[in-house]
Amino acid sequence: MSSDVAYKRILLKLSGEALEGKEAFGIDPDVLQRMSEEIGELVKAGVQVGLVIGGGNIFRGAKLAESGMNRVVGDHMGMLATVMNGLAMRDSLERNSIKTTLMSAMPIQGITTPYSWMEAISRLEKGEVVILSAGTGNPFFTTDSAACLRGIEIQADAVIKGTKVDGVYSADPMKDPDAVLYHELSYKEVVEKELKVMDLSAFILARDHKMPIMVFNMNKKGALMKVIRGEEEGTVIK
Ligand code: UDP
Repeated sequence: MSSDVAYKRILLKLSGEALEGKEAFGIDPDVLQRMSEEIGELVKAGVQVGLVIGGGNIFRGAKLAESGMNRVVGDHMGMLATVMNGLAMRDSLERNSIKTTLMSAMPIQGITTPYSWMEAISRLEKGEVVILSAGTGNPFFTTDSAACLRGIEIQADAVIKGTKVDGVYSADPMKDPDAVLYHELSYKEVVEKELKVMDLSAFILARDHKMPIMVFNMNKKGALMKVIRGEEEGTVIK
């Protein structure tokens, strides 16, 4: 493994919304290509990459429930949306010659591999990217919870969350021009300052298992690699 990486095995979480890119709905092929190239660089540097992708660009259970749908059904649709994003990402990674397995917490015979933590670790050790789709497999959770849960299960060194901004700020940087970017935070500071990193149940799971969380801007080229090298980029929570 290349010696200049600070993390050997990561759980990378990308939001579904980020896949939308310039499209109004669905998936922007340019975003898939750019993320595939960045993930390819990590793999070349010897980093083992587990990947959780959200589904918010297609369906979110809570949103569907607002218009009257049963929440459990809505969440099932949300989880299936993450499988569709996973299919698109696997296709893109494979077209970039990056060997990828698409696992799913909701097995779909002939299309995905059923999720197994031991199988995931074994494939990561062989240098494959492993996409962990369908969230936790349970309604009322988010893919942030899935990222922390799977990150802990596959014994990742960190959960790395890609967002649309540079990291964790004191206030919403899209709304408040005085918002300050934090480079390092403790779990305690995040809770005390009520900072928005991810939903609370996901965050508490990571905290209780001492899983470091990094937040970076996935629209900033090269930011992910800087995080992996341990350089000052985004926010580290530990
Ligand atoms: N979801 C779920 N259980 C999980 C993960 C996801 O029910 O363990 C559903 C939920 O409806 C959620 C949707 O899948 O809204 C898409 O995931 P998420 O909202 O986390 O996607 P993101 O915001 O990251 O695009």
